[in-house]
Amino acid sequence: MEIFNTIITTQSYLAPFKKNNKTIGFVPTMGALHQGHLALVKQAKAENDIVVVSIFVNPIQFNNKEDLLKYPRTFETDASLLEAEGCDVIFYPDESQMYPEPDQSVYDFGLLDKVMEGKFRPGHFNGVAIVVKKLFDIVLPDKAYFGEKDYQQLQIIKALVEHKNIPVTIIPCPIYREDDGLAMSSRNMRLTAEERKVAPFIYQTLLQAKDKSNQLNPNELTHWVIQQIEENSMLTLEYFEIVDAATLLPVINFNDCQSSIGCIAVFLGDVRLIDNILLE
Ligand code: AMP
Repeated sequence: MEIFNTIITTQSYLAPFKKNNKTIGFVPTMGALHQGHLALVKQAKAENDIVVVSIFVNPIQFNNKEDLLKYPRTFETDASLLEAEGCDVIFYPDESQMYPEPDQSVYDFGLLDKVMEGKFRPGHFNGVAIVVKKLFDIVLPDKAYFGEKDYQQLQIIKALVEHKNIPVTIIPCPIYREDDGLAMSSRNMRLTAEERKVAPFIYQTLLQAKDKSNQLNPNELTHWVIQQIEENSMLTLEYFEIVDAATLLPVINFNDCQSSIGCIAVFLGDVRLIDNILLE
């Protein structure tokens, strides 16, 4: 496995593969890897000749300074996990490589980047789009793998690729969970033991919501979820919304869209967790 810190070394290593029509599978990450990330790597490995994983904590997608400072960084462990998965290349740049000067690009994804995460984390998706576009330009992947855990991000990346005509296929990957249902996240390691015990309540509530989606309308169901979360004194709800899985428009009536998804963001202590569930 190769580890490159610069754009030029990464590009020179990958160029001959590209020239020989070898397919490149790409998994962009911010490190602090867990089984959820590794599931993406496994899938990329199965579907491509060569797998590139990037590890870069992208400062411009953090609207909260504290969150950026506290973001876990575990490069040595990440590298050994990736080596064990058969990853071929780690691209591990520092900030000066990625942003020799500030990137002022402004993306507009219409409604996609205004709701939910977009509303509560201003500038977040613009920062995500800037870094993913840069990474795609460097790695030139055939396929890129993104988790459905960050469902809104996945829709934005699909829009980015379409708007910019980037020749890459975006592969959505299912949410990987702990045995108790908690969606795996690099942020989970910041939970205290007590918080960690409470955390599965989020997914349990989503599962119950799915069960209730044939008895309650979206508005009633939303209120039911809000009430469940608010009754738990350790959780602070940021949002729960039921949206059209393709457009992210609010769903007024379940029959009005092909599939709807319930998306949630919750604070547990000072750790912000997100999750989602396909309702129908
Ligand atoms: P991150 O390092 O958090 O930016 O995540 C890198 C990629 O891994 C993104 O495409 C995430 O959606 C994906 N990912 C993170 N956690 C999970 C999970 N629990 N299941 C599936 N994919 C995930």
